[in-house]
Amino acid sequence: MNKKQILFTSFILLFSMFSCKKSQDNHNADKALTDTVIVNKTAVVTKNTAQQILEKPQVPVLCYHRIDNETKGDYSITPATLEAHMKALSDSGYTSIQPTQLYDYLVYNKAIPDKSVMITFDDSRTEHFEIAAPVMEKYGFRGVFFIMTITLNKKNYMDTTQIATLAARGHEIGLHSMDHTMATKYKTDADWETNVNKPIQKLSQITHKQVDYWAYPNGVFNTESAAKLQEHFKLSFILSQKRDSVYPLQTVRRVIIPDISTNSLMKSIKRNF
Ligand SMILES: [Zn+2]
Repeated sequence: MNKKQILFTSFILLFSMFSCKKSQDNHNADKALTDTVIVNKTAVVTKNTAQQILEKPQVPVLCYHRIDNETKGDYSITPATLEAHMKALSDSGYTSIQPTQLYDYLVYNKAIPDKSVMITFDDSRTEHFEIAAPVMEKYGFRGVFFIMTITLNKKNYMDTTQIATLAARGHEIGLHSMDHTMATKYKTDADWETNVNKPIQKLSQITHKQVDYWAYPNGVFNTESAAKLQEHFKLSFILSQKRDSVYPLQTVRRVIIPDISTNSLMKSIKRNF
């Protein structure tokens, strides 16, 4: 071999080594792709059983109603108290989670922040839009608003634009029946149509989102209503009673928060959940 031939042979050798390396890389990449596909194909998504759901630590779910300076009682707090509660939750490191996160946590064991809380408001009052949403947003929280459709656009109650705005700002809009008739009283198909099916349609037309969550009027449920509501909702919320052993997803506990100090709020969270 002359000098020219040696140079040429070296070049060919080097080139083929490089090509071989490249093709090996491609092969590995293909293999990785194939493995991923196979993993996806064989991954079995199992849902927790009712028993497993009941055994999981509960997430605190707070339930508020009226926010004003005049009304007294368990179902009302002042705007100042609400602000103090939100600040206390934020200062204590709480993160507000949305119902879809709670569902994925309960059913699929998906992770949620260590100090999770859900903040809910019942009965569609105007102050939920005017006071509650801005205060929650100030502390980086998002809430869940349970609406009775009979109150839409009525005095002191949220109108359709306000509800659509809440949904667009990342809050969840859930259903609280048509007119607050308790779920245990729905007997006929027509009752279910009036209190559940039609209101779901109405709310989803307003928010352009699915309506997947329900709060029982007065928190009252029985196994029959929970079974039926499961056909419509991913989660349904009761108050602080015992959950149904067969339908824990349709009987998620909440605690009513009256006008109490932030210390009492923290104690109530610890005691109830
Ligand atoms: Zn209510």
